[in-house]
Amino acid sequence: MEWSISDGTTIKGPFTLLDGTVVDADKRNSPVSVDTYYITPNKCTECQGFHEEPQCAAVCPVDCCVPDEMYRETVEELLAKKEKMHI
Ligand code: SF4
Repeated sequence: MEWSISDGTTIKGPFTLLDGTVVDADKRNSPVSVDTYYITPNKCTECQGFHEEPQCAAVCPVDCCVPDEMYRETVEELLAKKEKMHI
């Protein structure tokens, strides 16, 4: 399923991704995977500022929501992402 930065957020207009690329928030992006569910690192805040633990991991019955070693972010970085996405 395609995704965009604006889906489920208050973001409009230009948005800088984790890799520095600037995209329009409404741009439809290709699926990260078509065979599996996926989490978009550019949008995941590990639920910082909302819950004490990642809610997807907390409810997944087969423990498939695991940390992505390619994206290690500090709590401060995750909270800044949350503030940017949910004004
Ligand atoms: S950790 Fe929270 S923000 Fe990230 S994908 Fe899971 S539920 Fe969504």
